[in-house]
Amino acid sequence: MSHIAYVNGRYLPQADAYVHIEDRGYQFADGVYEVMCIWNGLPVDLTGHIARLNRSLRELSMASPASDGALTFIMKEVVRRNHVEKGTVYIQVNRGVAPRAHAFPSKNVKPSLVITAKHGAGPSESVAEAGVKVVTTPDIRWKRVDIKTVGLLPNAMAKQVAAEARAFEALLHVDGTVTEASSSNAWMVTPDKTIVTHPSTNAILSGITRATVIRIAKEAGYKVQERAFTVAEALKAKEVFLTGTTTFVMPVVQIDEKTVANGSPGTVALDLRQRYRAFMDGLTDTAWNA
Ligand code: PMP
Repeated sequence: MSHIAYVNGRYLPQADAYVHIEDRGYQFADGVYEVMCIWNGLPVDLTGHIARLNRSLRELSMASPASDGALTFIMKEVVRRNHVEKGTVYIQVNRGVAPRAHAFPSKNVKPSLVITAKHGAGPSESVAEAGVKVVTTPDIRWKRVDIKTVGLLPNAMAKQVAAEARAFEALLHVDGTVTEASSSNAWMVTPDKTIVTHPSTNAILSGITRATVIRIAKEAGYKVQERAFTVAEALKAKEVFLTGTTTFVMPVVQIDEKTVANGSPGTVALDLRQRYRAFMDGLTDTAWNA
C-alpha cells in the first residue's frame, strides 16, 4: 500500500509528492516541524504540538500555513488515508519558495505545508524493559534549539555517534552539562528520589512528552526539579531516562562504558513509563473527533 502525503493542498501517493527546489526549507533549513504520536487512532497531546508549532513559526516570523482547525483536519485526514492506528504524523512548514537569497522573502510568499503519517509507535516493550545504552557527545548545535527547525544536522551527527556505538541515543552536553539527547529529553533521578531535567530554556527543545511527564510525575507525588545536571551527576544517579514522542519514557542503564546504578531500569522510570502508557490508553480527544 502506498503512503499518502499531503503537500500544499493535495493528497498524493508519497512517490509523487515533491517540493520545489527553491523551497527555503531545502536551501536554508528554513522550516519547522512537529512529530506527533497517534495511539489507538488518536493524537497524543495535539494541543501541545500545535501550540509548539505556532510558537516555532512566531519565533521565525513565519506565516502559518493554515488555521489550527484546518491543520488538525488535514492531519486527521492523512492519518485516516494511511490507516494509522498506532504511529506518527509528521508536519513540516517551510517559509516557502523564493529565489535564493538569505534574507526572508516578501510576506506574500506562501509557506509550504507537508504532512505525512507512518505506522509504528514507540520502541518495543522489551527494549524498555531491558533499558538502553547512551553515549555522550558534545552539543554543537546553535543557540535556539528551543525552535523546532528542520536544521537537524548536528542531531543527525550525534545520533550517528550513537548508532556506531550500538547505543540507543546520544546524550548531548556543553562542557559536561547535559542539555538533552539528540531526539529526546534527558532526565535523572537523584539518590533522594528527586526527578531532575534541564529547564525549558533556549538550550533544549521543550518536549511535549517532557511537559506531560512532569505533570504525571507531580500528580503521582514525585518531586520534580527543573535544573541542569552534569554527565558526572548522571553517572552517580539512581536512575537516568529519556522522554520523547517516539521514545515515551525510556530507562537508560548505561552511559558510555559505565553502568547507571545497578545496570537495570529504575523503578521511577518504569513507573513513569507505565503511567505515560496509561495516559495514552485513556486518550479521548474532542478536537480530533469534532
Ligand atoms: N529534544 C529533541 C532534540 C527532539 O528532537 C525531541 C523530539 N521531537 C525531543 C527533545 C522530545 O520532544 P517531544 O517530547 O515533543 O517529542
